[in-house]
Amino acid sequence: MTRVVDRLQPGRTVFSVEFFPPRSDAEEQILWKAVRELEPLNPAYVSVTYGAGGSSRDRTIRTVGRIARETTMLPMAHLTGVDHSKDELRHVVGSLADEGIRNILAIRGDPPGDPMGEWIPHPHGILYADELVRLVRSCGDFSVGVAAFPHMHPRSTDVETETDHLVNKIRAGADFAVAQLFLQPEYFLRLRDRLAARNCHVPLIPGVMPITTPKVLSKFEHLAGVPVPSEVSAALDPLAEKPEAFRAAGIELITRLCERLISEGVPGLHFYSLNRAKATREVVDNLGLAEGVPQPV
Ligand SMILES: Cc1cc2nc3c(=O)[nH]c(=O)nc-3n(C[C@H](O)[C@H](O)[C@H](O)COP(=O)(O)OP(=O)(O)OC[C@H]3O[C@@H](n4cnc5c(N)ncnc54)[C@H](O)[C@@H]3O)c2cc1C
Repeated sequence: MTRVVDRLQPGRTVFSVEFFPPRSDAEEQILWKAVRELEPLNPAYVSVTYGAGGSSRDRTIRTVGRIARETTMLPMAHLTGVDHSKDELRHVVGSLADEGIRNILAIRGDPPGDPMGEWIPHPHGILYADELVRLVRSCGDFSVGVAAFPHMHPRSTDVETETDHLVNKIRAGADFAVAQLFLQPEYFLRLRDRLAARNCHVPLIPGVMPITTPKVLSKFEHLAGVPVPSEVSAALDPLAEKPEAFRAAGIELITRLCERLISEGVPGLHFYSLNRAKATREVVDNLGLAEGVPQPV
């Protein structure tokens, strides 16, 4: 199977899409409608997140397996170390391999129920993501990605040490990194500069979430771990009671953000789809991303 990193070609910006595992039959139908609607746009890869509990984790494995078998798209599974011994993690990696998956985003994860609670590793598990990167690599020929944080991880105390940790997990064997959400491109670009200053040049892919409703905007705060920037609030808050105008302004804002990132030569844009196709399609269409957009020379 192709590796994610091979789909990130020099000179072009491509796009990818993130899904979460469905929790019910109804959600499964919604997810597969989105999958089918996005497939013709030819995303470079699609990823499925890894949940906190047993059945949701099985659904991640089933979903990436079905994508591998029944679509033309390249799937990547997220995997976290939460509540897993290393043996269990190897077993999950084996189950993913059985499903034909060779691309894994290796993530430490958060304590279940309280993302800011104290991280207590499984007695036979991993302490940080770099160990998971090594573990996945030791299981076979996998392409491995890691998470990066333009606004710094909420547990970190300074950006330089955090960047050292990021470089450490990349050097443990990651081929690329996917960045957490942000709305101010400067934070992403500074992170990229800090990596370059450490001679670390793996592809860094920005995470992007089309903003369609006030609820999605507040989800941004939750995921990014920072407040919505004042200029974005100033533009969108007055439209909170006007759903169509809010949506149009949100899509426009994210389109402009993506344009700036493309002009800065990012290899890809990773869309958090929330298992819906429409908003991602609109931004992808606005940017002409289905064909891949030439990067500036
Ligand atoms: C793109 C993306 C996808 C995600 N997908 C999922 C998902 O599918 N499921 C899910 O549950 N969560 C997901 N998350 C959230 C993620 O689980 C949390 O953000 C988690 O807290 C951090 O995981 P990590 O792999 O970055 O951890 P780590 O890289 O281990 O970092 C955690 C903290 O420890 C510090 N650190 C790292 N290494 C060291 C070291 N050697 N010594 C001391 N400190 C160190 C880091 O600076 C950071 O503060 C995702 C996040 C992103 C950005």
